[in-house]
Amino acid sequence: MKTKSGPDLDSYLEDTSNIPGYADVVYIPDRTEEIHSALAQCRASRIPFTVSAGRTGTTGAGIPQSGALCSVENLQRIHSIDPDRGIAVIEPGVSLDDLNQAARPHGYTLRAASTEWLARAGGIVGTCASGVRGFKYGSIRTYIRSLDLLLTTGESITIRRGRHRACGRKLYAEFPRKTFDLILPGYTAPGIKTQAGYRATNDLDLIDLIIGSEGTLGIITRIVLQLQKIPFTSFYGLLFLPDERRAFRLVEHARSLTARGILCPAALEYFDARSLEFLRDENPFIPASGTAVYFEQEIEREPEYEPAMAQWVQLAETHGADAGQSILADTPQERERIFSFRHSLPQHINEYLRQHRVVKRATDIAVPRRAFRQMYRYYKTLGEESGLPYVNFGHIGESHLHFNFLPRNKKEERKAKKYLILFCERAVALGGTVSAEHGIGKLKRDLLRLMYPAHRIREMAALKHYFDPHDILGLDTIFAKELLPAWRGHG
Ligand SMILES: Cc1cc2nc3c(=O)[nH]c(=O)nc-3n(C[C@H](O)[C@H](O)[C@H](O)COP(=O)(O)OP(=O)(O)OC[C@H]3O[C@@H](n4cnc5c(N)ncnc54)[C@H](O)[C@@H]3O)c2cc1C
Repeated sequence: MKTKSGPDLDSYLEDTSNIPGYADVVYIPDRTEEIHSALAQCRASRIPFTVSAGRTGTTGAGIPQSGALCSVENLQRIHSIDPDRGIAVIEPGVSLDDLNQAARPHGYTLRAASTEWLARAGGIVGTCASGVRGFKYGSIRTYIRSLDLLLTTGESITIRRGRHRACGRKLYAEFPRKTFDLILPGYTAPGIKTQAGYRATNDLDLIDLIIGSEGTLGIITRIVLQLQKIPFTSFYGLLFLPDERRAFRLVEHARSLTARGILCPAALEYFDARSLEFLRDENPFIPASGTAVYFEQEIEREPEYEPAMAQWVQLAETHGADAGQSILADTPQERERIFSFRHSLPQHINEYLRQHRVVKRATDIAVPRRAFRQMYRYYKTLGEESGLPYVNFGHIGESHLHFNFLPRNKKEERKAKKYLILFCERAVALGGTVSAEHGIGKLKRDLLRLMYPAHRIREMAALKHYFDPHDILGLDTIFAKELLPAWRGHG
């Protein structure tokens, strides 16, 4: 196993949140067994232990504040891909890119994951990622069949979907060397896409508690995943619309056609005028004003192609899309071009924040569909009032936008943080979530407190302590470590 310390550590101590990290040592195991020995050392000396994968996270969850970091990047084995059923058995360091390349010859791909292909399987499961195709495919949760989990107490367990269900909130699960007997937290999460704190529902499957637990309950060492069939073909669209009103109408229309089974886009995304402005220099084809809707339409059988294309052309015309500038892409090169355009926005934002040395101040808010326009108006009003540069874009099909402030210095960053809290307060009042896909990490702990009262967050800490009684794993993620017995009074 490689270890790093001193100045070699720097690249391991940041993700796209830009919050500063610190570690005394980084372990980079080549085999799962090596994690056991690193963990045993840390357990014996009560040294904080954080695990990271691709470090593309946006909340600092995989970035340590002290102690040791274990980067699973070298655990890259794809043990198998079943060519008939599309089931992949992989290690946590496998990148999305590598997984897709290995799956493609068998006719499979992974649709429900981060748009960032440098993300790795451990991080995808750790954050319960979803992405641009979440409108059709949801999050990675649905596709995880089984996980191997290494606990900080040293046991390794295999959790198979459907085998270990809670009864109400009481979870009892037996494994050869480990038994869980615990009460799950009592909160009820909003009934929309959400990734804010531990999953806790009646009759929860243990595997669903681990998915999205942000590296705080155990270390995932093996993942069994259902891949998706590559569709027969697909076409993508980038529709430029004169204003927001028309973009929203188009989206609502597309959603109602989806509900009636007439269309089934994989992606339904939105760019506000400021997002387009931000990208214009490198993309001169963007019209001088207006907004855009991006979609991906998959086709399962050849006869579906013409009717689906006709539907989208009609939708575009009905809602006033700019016929000259809008793009309908059905060749692999054209699809790649407009997908890259979509992906370039978060990439540019992250680059901008790095250049300005400021922490990410962005929303990951989703609200119930009925509240979307109200939330959007609030974004606009406060965005203008703030006087700060910003862009607003994202997964409009799921009423989930990423409003990103673009602060130019620390002072503006502090101001942005205040507005972010206001946005989150409003979202919660509307029945929404402060984090729909990126998790809470270290950056959004204050925001989680807007969703749940203090005693519910203490229940989360108690749950974490049950899994990690030494209180060493993934500290300061989701809640402050001072809520854990070993760190009480250290604040
Ligand atoms: C340009 C860009 C676009 C993005 N688009 C999306 C998007 O569309 N949708 C989306 O959901 N996210 C998106 N993200 C965020 C990011 O890609 C996801 O959060 C991703 O799931 C993180 O994976 P990672 O491998 O980089 O994990 P890391 O950042 O390394 O870690 C993330 C979390 O997973 C935990 N973890 C890592 N490995 C393990 C393990 N073996 N066992 C237990 N826990 C583990 C870590 O402790 C941490 O809590 C984007 C990021 C960028 C930079």
